[in-house]
Amino acid sequence: MTDFAATRASFFLPEGVIYLDGNSLGPLPRAAADRVHDTVTEEWGKLLIRGWNAGAGGTGWMPQPDRLGDRIGRLIGAPAGSVAVGDTLSIKVFQCLAAALALRPDRSVILSDTGNFPSDLYMADGLTRLMQGKTVRTVAPEDVTAALDETIAVLMLTEVDYRTGRMHDMAQLTAAAQAKGIVVVWDLAHSAGALPVDLQGCGPEFAAGCTYKYLNAGPGAPAFVYVRPDIAEHVQPALAGWLGHAAPFDFDLTYRPGPGLARMRVGTPAVLQMAALEAALDIWDRVDMKDVRARSITLSERFIAEVERNCGDEVALASPRDPHQRGSQVSFRHPEGYAVMQALIARGVIGDFRAPDRIRFGFAPLYNTEEEVVEAARILADILTHRSWDTPRFHARAAVT
Ligand SMILES: *Cc1c(COP(=O)(O)O)cnc(C)c1O
Repeated sequence: MTDFAATRASFFLPEGVIYLDGNSLGPLPRAAADRVHDTVTEEWGKLLIRGWNAGAGGTGWMPQPDRLGDRIGRLIGAPAGSVAVGDTLSIKVFQCLAAALALRPDRSVILSDTGNFPSDLYMADGLTRLMQGKTVRTVAPEDVTAALDETIAVLMLTEVDYRTGRMHDMAQLTAAAQAKGIVVVWDLAHSAGALPVDLQGCGPEFAAGCTYKYLNAGPGAPAFVYVRPDIAEHVQPALAGWLGHAAPFDFDLTYRPGPGLARMRVGTPAVLQMAALEAALDIWDRVDMKDVRARSITLSERFIAEVERNCGDEVALASPRDPHQRGSQVSFRHPEGYAVMQALIARGVIGDFRAPDRIRFGFAPLYNTEEEVVEAARILADILTHRSWDTPRFHARAAVT
């Protein structure tokens, strides 16, 4: 059994705050501050350029993306050597899509759904505009299966909808797409660290996700990418950077892809961010994803029950009611959702707002408790009853919502 009291104690959680936004930016692992500090002073400061071979506690900064990738791999059902970290998720989505399209040169369509995160769709759009005769098609999330046909080269989906927590059936959709010869790319932004993922069992060709959400590696932490091992040697990298070359330090003028997954590396890895990620993964190494899922369902079910009991019909559930069709987040609709969320934040309950009318709460079993979600629901009810959201201060929009 995972010791959730111990995992909670591993985070710095500010006094007076109930943090229900770890689905956007996870909190600070206590060990991360020292780890980053040591990397700055002891390694960057004293090792200087030697850090590439001797940093990261003697193992070298350069292999860190693969070592950290393997530790993420355990959480998403991926075998050793199939996951690496680097760049941002948008970049990794682009890379996966380009590689996926190249595997089906005779087909022209990238299929996605209207529940996807806009950046993924923008990336697909930008990629197809660089190519002749390729297009992006989007359908409603519930219509994806019916839209699979032999014109489609690539199916790109995000497993958990960022607005509502609605979850796709990864095993079923991957199998249905592959039966029609479609290459499958999954975005795990709201899955990694939120629920068990079985990449090996489901068998998609590609997946990608980020580490600053449920994995708690800090703002700007690198993304990760998965390539199914049996195709890794055939993948053509569109972003052919020098560190994905077979021999970067030969400074060859023509590109030759590195072995397997190595070719998905682009340029210089973010060493300081990887130090924070390493500290975050030290916590994850002590966690069983099955326990995380069970506790996540307990927390979200309790929250929904408390909100519905205390708030009456002032808010409406915007997430699937069946916990097995949700990720680890819950949204409610309120016509003045933005102001309601600002009022909640002012009372120490931090969630976020997603246009047009959703207040969103993420549940992170590593540090959230049942007492917290009960208290958050009580404060929400208080704000709604007293209309304390209805003041100019809470209506003024900030840049990041
Ligand atoms: C958070 C998120 C992103 C963000 O991409 P970055 O390049 O890391 O900013 C992309 N896609 C999805 C589905 C997300 O949830």
